Amino acid sequence: MCKAGRGELKGPVYGTDRFPVQRSLEEALQKLENGAACRVFPSGLSAIQNTLLAFCQSGDHVLVVDNAYHPGISFCQKILAKFNIETTFIPPAIGAEIESYIRDNTRLILLESPGSNTFEIQDIPAITAIAKQKNIITALDNTWATPLYLKPFDLGIDVSIQSVSKYIAGYSDVLLGAVTVNDKYAKTLINYYRRMEMYTPDSDCYLALRGMNTLSTRLKQHEQSALTIATALINHTKIDTVIHPALPNHPQHSLFLRDFSGSSGLFAFTFKQEYSQEKLGAFIDKLELFGLGYSWGGYKSLLTAGKQQRKTPSLYSEKTIIRLNIGLEDPQDLMDDLERGLAQLS
Ligand SMILES: *Cc1c(COP(=O)(O)O)cnc(C)c1O
Repeated sequence: MCKAGRGELKGPVYGTDRFPVQRSLEEALQKLENGAACRVFPSGLSAIQNTLLAFCQSGDHVLVVDNAYHPGISFCQKILAKFNIETTFIPPAIGAEIESYIRDNTRLILLESPGSNTFEIQDIPAITAIAKQKNIITALDNTWATPLYLKPFDLGIDVSIQSVSKYIAGYSDVLLGAVTVNDKYAKTLINYYRRMEMYTPDSDCYLALRGMNTLSTRLKQHEQSALTIATALINHTKIDTVIHPALPNHPQHSLFLRDFSGSSGLFAFTFKQEYSQEKLGAFIDKLELFGLGYSWGGYKSLLTAGKQQRKTPSLYSEKTIIRLNIGLEDPQDLMDDLERGLAQLS
């Protein structure tokens, strides 16, 4: 037998066999998350979708929090449903009450805490305790806190998902996702990944690895600037609620203090009254530093505006949610920009 046949040649044997840069990124993320294995995917959404496909099968039932990243919710409704996997959407601030939603065929629980746009926090340890008793897999989208500010495996989670496109890469120039698992599910993830012939470009993995070197420094600045701006906005005459888990008025603030070691740069606010599309447009168009954009976590400040569709009761169902991604610009400049924009609503 030749050397290759005896396994004596090192390195990948095929283009989809995870090139060295990808392997380095996976190793770095696995260490940061303190997990047993990590695989990277072409996007954060792909990481969510493939988690569901890797761990569920026809006839299963999954529970998904109502404030999860919306394209992931659509995937459950439109694609998983085709394969006879049923989804129940559960209240976004759920804890031990999750037990009442569990069925005999419930296979997986997908959490996102704080959740997209409305920032509700789940009682993760209460949920994972119940899931463990019933042998249900728990997955958490940990993009907001990053592995620096929340340690999913310490809270009993089995699968931690990251949109690497956000804080980890940090410059809004990469689309990547990652799935990290504990020991129990490492083999399932690794085998699934190999069969699916996933591929992520070297250049994107390289940029994500480079971003990780400054993650903790960037995150501290995002955190500080966001807290400064959120606190200043509380007293603004037009603003009703500032929705930020690190502020004492947040409905699950005590859970935040218990489980998280810091906050990031994404939060939201609502207005005291609803404005016409024209007025909202004038507010947004006046902003010079805040761009209009979805993909947060980068150096540049961004905003989104809109009402959130929820399937369970929400504190904000009739309210326009303005979501701010606080970038790395000077916080006073950002505040001045917002003040000029908000003045258009008069
Ligand atoms: C953006 C986002 C994703 C999807 O990430 P992409 O890399 O853009 O596909 C997943 N989860 C959350 C919470 C996100 O904000």
